[in-house]
Amino acid sequence: MLTAIVGVNWGDEGKGRMVDLLSERCDIVVRYQGGNNAGHTVVNDKGKFILNLMPSGILRDGTVNVLGPGMVIDLEHLCGEAERLRQGGISVTPETLKISDKATVCMPYHKLLDCLEEDRLAGKKFGSTRRGIAPVYADKYMKKTLRMGDLLDLEAQAEHVADIVEWKNLTVEKGYGHEPVRAGEIMDWLRTFGLPWRDFICDTSLFLDEAADQGRDILFEAQLGALRDIDFGIFPYTSSSSTIAAYAPVGAGVPGRKLDRSIGIMKAYSSCVGEGPFTCEFFGDEAHALREAGGEYGAATGRPRRVGGFDVVASRYGVRVQGCTEIALTKLDVLSYLEKIPVCVAYEVDGERITDFPSGRRLAQARPVYEYRPGFGDVSGCRKKEELPREALDYIAYLEKAVGCPIKYVSVGPERDACVEMF
Ligand code: GDP
Repeated sequence: MLTAIVGVNWGDEGKGRMVDLLSERCDIVVRYQGGNNAGHTVVNDKGKFILNLMPSGILRDGTVNVLGPGMVIDLEHLCGEAERLRQGGISVTPETLKISDKATVCMPYHKLLDCLEEDRLAGKKFGSTRRGIAPVYADKYMKKTLRMGDLLDLEAQAEHVADIVEWKNLTVEKGYGHEPVRAGEIMDWLRTFGLPWRDFICDTSLFLDEAADQGRDILFEAQLGALRDIDFGIFPYTSSSSTIAAYAPVGAGVPGRKLDRSIGIMKAYSSCVGEGPFTCEFFGDEAHALREAGGEYGAATGRPRRVGGFDVVASRYGVRVQGCTEIALTKLDVLSYLEKIPVCVAYEVDGERITDFPSGRRLAQARPVYEYRPGFGDVSGCRKKEELPREALDYIAYLEKAVGCPIKYVSVGPERDACVEMF
């Protein structure tokens, strides 16, 4: 069975925690896009872990994890993340982690360029995480960067690295007026942080294809959500990769395979990191209360997230572009403090009420139309469908109908068992 777990909203839906839960029933977890620009927070019996590059299955004994060819990998960050996991008693070995020889290396100068550009933009900044993701994906498509497989024969790459660095300095030194990148330092960086991964690098496409033939359960784990997808998201306030389920087999390295399931992770309210249109946004005390209740601070950056009520317009669009076959609704417990639950049911643009997610100028000008559903009190202790209060069941049924997809799981807390199966 091939299953993608993807975000329906702006990211931070709690995908990590759902993958952690669902990986119990699967053999392999694959990351297929992005880099260390976002983070999953997973709480389990071993502790609390923030995962930026590692698939969430790394926290489960017996699960094999794959970093696919669609990813961009900052080697230094990978070393740090592996070290923190090992300190927490998690095994990171070539048996538990396989890295695609076709994944792209995110270099120190990619991070540098990200920072130089954000600083240049100053007040007009995009809200980049400054982790080099846009510059490294740009170079991937320019075909001027190293791939993980190049580390297997690193010394033979010295001339290639020198050529790339010379080209980069046209931008770094001549463009931004920064001191030049030095090829020798890049080679040293690659030796220090790249060579430890040599035994982990392999043809993961072949590994996954054979595993699929053997009928093993494979989970494709997305980072960020539908609205951050480079093609379908709120461009240009998107990530630089494809976050949608349809890309999962490509970015994982098994393009000929068809997904059996696309599980959309959808949050019971909305949150958004960084700049860009966020129509359902709350402000002032209302925002503060929800942010505190949901602990809405970025896992990778610690930045306070923007928050709002559940957005039917954006979420229905997210469910559609993700091709969801089912939904896991997360963080329902966070709404326990509310007497009535705000839901953004439509947008108003140029005096017109719309329910299809707009783009461009119309999205920027959209205003939310809010309605209220009855509150349901504390649901954090519920573990079975029968234990959920009637009002909570009504809210879930309302959301299912609004987005047009069945809700199969409802998560009511960050712990591994704090989840209600709805079937
Ligand atoms: P991801 O990138 O989609 O995995 O999302 P994040 O890791 O940024 O955000 C999820 C956060 O919410 C983490 O701190 C989780 O431990 C927490 N979380 C996940 N599901 C629930 C839930 O149902 N209730 C509560 N209260 N917290 C949750």
